[in-house]
Amino acid sequence: MVRHPREVFLRQPEPAVINPANHHVLLPHVGCAADELPLSHADGRYWDDMLDTAVHELVLQDRLRLVATDPGDTGPHAVWSGRGAPAPTIGLRSASRGEYRIRTNDGAPLGSVDAARVAQTVHAGAVYLHQGASWRVVELDHVHRCATVARHDADTYTQVRSNSDISLLEVAESTRVGGIAVSLGRVLVTTQVVAYEERHTETHRFIRCEPLEMEPSVLDTSALWWAFEAEMIDAAGIGPVELPGALHAAEHTGIGVLPLFALCDRWDLGGVSTPWLEQTAAATVVIHDAHPGGAGVTALAFEHSEAHLRSTLEVLTTCRCATGCPSCVHSPKCGNGNEPLDRGAATALLSYALRADARPPSRLTPSTRTVRRSLSRSPEITTPTSGNRRGRATTETLSMSPGPRPPWSSTRSTSRSPRTASAVSRATRSSGSTITDLAVAEVTRTT
Ligand SMILES: [Zn+2]
Ligand SMILES: [Zn+2]
Repeated sequence: MVRHPREVFLRQPEPAVINPANHHVLLPHVGCAADELPLSHADGRYWDDMLDTAVHELVLQDRLRLVATDPGDTGPHAVWSGRGAPAPTIGLRSASRGEYRIRTNDGAPLGSVDAARVAQTVHAGAVYLHQGASWRVVELDHVHRCATVARHDADTYTQVRSNSDISLLEVAESTRVGGIAVSLGRVLVTTQVVAYEERHTETHRFIRCEPLEMEPSVLDTSALWWAFEAEMIDAAGIGPVELPGALHAAEHTGIGVLPLFALCDRWDLGGVSTPWLEQTAAATVVIHDAHPGGAGVTALAFEHSEAHLRSTLEVLTTCRCATGCPSCVHSPKCGNGNEPLDRGAATALLSYALRADARPPSRLTPSTRTVRRSLSRSPEITTPTSGNRRGRATTETLSMSPGPRPPWSSTRSTSRSPRTASAVSRATRSSGSTITDLAVAEVTRTT
């Protein structure tokens, strides 16, 4: 934007994204609504097709129950049956259900932080910024979910070092831009914070690195990924030594330009890059939503895959720095301390890959868009929520089918049949999948 000021006035504002179908968003909202007033089918107008699914899930979790209504009504109403009122248990600042309080060492409340970001932001020793003031975390209490902070007067900041593992769980869509296979789907990101480093605020001079012992965090979310096949990497002149830095730089820049396409910032996103990902059988850059279930940012980026990749290349090509800077490839939240980064190799890789004649592999033609579902039974990936419903004994007649809406049935029995599509879907989700298994389930739609 600094180098293209006309864009500020000429371009359309970036769209605000929201993903109301995200179960981490949908279920708490429906629960709160039912606590206010009993839900009926007429309330489906507020949630389109999603209300039936939400009611179904919440009844299975014993957080809603169905009550009969007067004859002539369209069906039973759904009322809140969980413990206590639902609204106070839902954080306003996050999609996850857990929050940690932050308080000063004399007991005054300072704020709260999403449980999913505790390891990154309020680990013991972290410098925490609040309304322009610096605080140092002196204690992190997981039992009482509280971080205690004391004033921090030194001119320093901290940044965690972490290792991430990524598993691709489902492919929703795939397409091709030049020689790059681009996919959108669901991923499981496991992040292990291993240390934090402290640096001077103005000079970024390294001061110290302290090891940390934290529980790994697991994030089930949506993501897009770029797969670069070995042949094309060779043709682009990228060797094995440069490749990790090229992918890592492309990942950082790809994340950095996303606010041009959706109302978000870097902290709404995360990324992983690897010279070899077994599930894609290729060097892969993954950019994922940082919120459980996904906020819709990567879905919007996937829709604009070509523009996103070309904008990434433009930033890599036009930045006036010599070898990389915060305007192009450096990230303030990199878990690897911005190592390795190779702006030149990233530019060469994307320049080649986005050429019209970059050769597509034989298994996908450039004009083919695929819609795939995960149906495999590999045991190696399971979703974190899959254990919640173990042992539930409920019929599936609560499920709403398309067309004329049947009344919500409150029938419960010990039988699990008939199994509806949603029940089958949950079962397959619980059993997990790998990408390499997906080809058998793919439905190809030529566009
Ligand atoms: Zn630069
Ligand atoms: Zn990084």
